[in-house]
Amino acid sequence: MLKFQAGRKKRIFLIIVAVFFTVVLALLSRYVESHRELQFGFGSVILPASSFLGVVQAMKGLLCIIIVVLDYKRGRILTYLYMGGSIFFMLVGIISRGEMSSLPGIYNSIISIISIAIISSGLAKAEKRAVTDYLTGLKNRRGFSALLEKAIRDKKSFHVVYFEIENFRTINDNLGHKYGDVALKAVAEKLKEKEDEETVYVSRIGGAEFAAVVFEKIDPKPFAANVMEKIGTSVTNVDEGFDINIALSVYSGISSFPGDADNTDDLLKFADIAVYNARLQNSKERICFFNTDMKDRFYRQIELEKIVKDSLLRDYFYLVYQPQFRIEGKKLRGFETLLRLKQPDGTMVSPGEFIPVVEKSELIMKVDSYVLRRAVKEAKRLVDSCESNIVVSVNVSAKNISSPGFVDEVKSVLEFNHYPPECLEIEITEYSFAESKDLTIENVKELRKLGVQIALDDFGTGYTSLSQVMHLPINLLKIDKSLIDDIESNAMNRDFVDAIIYMGHLIKCEVICEGVENDEQLELLKAHECDFVQGFVWGRPLEYDNAIDLCKKEAS
Ligand code: C2E
Ligand code: MG
Ligand code: MG
Repeated sequence: MLKFQAGRKKRIFLIIVAVFFTVVLALLSRYVESHRELQFGFGSVILPASSFLGVVQAMKGLLCIIIVVLDYKRGRILTYLYMGGSIFFMLVGIISRGEMSSLPGIYNSIISIISIAIISSGLAKAEKRAVTDYLTGLKNRRGFSALLEKAIRDKKSFHVVYFEIENFRTINDNLGHKYGDVALKAVAEKLKEKEDEETVYVSRIGGAEFAAVVFEKIDPKPFAANVMEKIGTSVTNVDEGFDINIALSVYSGISSFPGDADNTDDLLKFADIAVYNARLQNSKERICFFNTDMKDRFYRQIELEKIVKDSLLRDYFYLVYQPQFRIEGKKLRGFETLLRLKQPDGTMVSPGEFIPVVEKSELIMKVDSYVLRRAVKEAKRLVDSCESNIVVSVNVSAKNISSPGFVDEVKSVLEFNHYPPECLEIEITEYSFAESKDLTIENVKELRKLGVQIALDDFGTGYTSLSQVMHLPINLLKIDKSLIDDIESNAMNRDFVDAIIYMGHLIKCEVICEGVENDEQLELLKAHECDFVQGFVWGRPLEYDNAIDLCKKEAS
């Protein structure tokens, strides 16, 4: 905003200078016209002063054009007034003196007026284009920001209401960009209906993000709810050859001036953060007001992304290996690799904190790829140190397991390390199936064909039912720690875990419980015929060398 105001001040200064020189030139030409006997000498050359009148006229025209270019709205009025005035005085001169020497000046001024009209209409069109979204005709981000900046300067209270269409990517991916554009235009039309010169302005911020500024008279929450209802109803446009009906799922976030921030960039960013939180909360309302907690979380997320990027570059990551045991006889089944991040100052950052953050961006692909390569390379020695077959599992995010290149990546890592595929297990969560079900199932099937094992992690925390699991090509169910935590005292969780183990076996899956911390839990799980356990009770995550030692101990 400061930058914007500085630019404005500079422009006003330049206009004043240009106007000053125009006036000086006008006075000069009037003086020369009334003193035609004046002469200038350049060495031996003597010229009448009137011979410079053409140059002065041209310079006046040029200055007028500069004024219009600097600020076409005000500049145009100023120059029209000036040119109009000049023409008037020249006509008076002609009539009163009865001589026609000012006639060329009149032509000159008329041509200047026409030139200025053409230039200013070109500038007006260019300015409109710069602040208008080409697809929807709504204000774009730049136009919207200018509007907010004006409201801030005028000290008017307002709310920025952001709208994000959640399923827009699916529309683009499944129906094509042409339909995506039609859907965006339809949303824009519905938003335009809400626009009102006094209190509401709407805009397309970019992609599938729209925004409105609503002034204090309007309560932003019911406004947002109403818009969301309008946008959310099905979109159809038969005119452009599309007769598909699709319901859009919309989230909204609200930031306020002057409460949340005093500048446009922050207000837009905070409204966006509020949308993101509305998505996280997953509440029925789907609307969220920005607050300072969100701001702190947001900056921590930015910091975490930077830490993760640095760690990939400078190799601050390493893996630890948490042992898994067969409950009957405590025989080592294998290890789950868990990522650790140690910063140069010794601070540890938990994967529980940074993984959910990087999972929202493409950064997770790099992290997962790093873990897969490092885990398989290190696991080769683990597998070789064990007498019996062990399995090393690697956590893979939903984005990665549903990506087209994932199976090839696994294949090439296995081949490069001469690693037996049956000793690798990929842990995925049920959200992988929620995000991109078909591609995930396809990839999982391919991996199973290679011989790689698949575990469904954190089972029991989401919405996947056992009947859904039955159709998924997995071979291990990992019951989440939250269900094990109070299994000794909570009969309902006990029965639930019992049922999962029983049903898991029915659908030919083995079952492991994670987060088992004490003997009581262990005994209960044994009684329920759980196959494996992973937890502090029998083994915390181990450094690589200690994991090798454990393998060797098992072998002896
Ligand atoms: P997860 O895959 O469910 O991993 C199990 C988590 O439970 C690990 O935490 C482990 O240390 C912890 N745990 C295991 N047994 C016990 C126990 O008896 N008591 C307690 N209190 N905790 C136990 P960690 O290492 O902090 O990892 C947290 C989550 O971070 C993981 O949950 C996983 O979702 C993610 N994560 C960890 N490493 C990776 C990785 O390499 N790639 C990806 N994509 N995610 C990872
Ligand atoms: Mg896991
Ligand atoms: Mg888990």
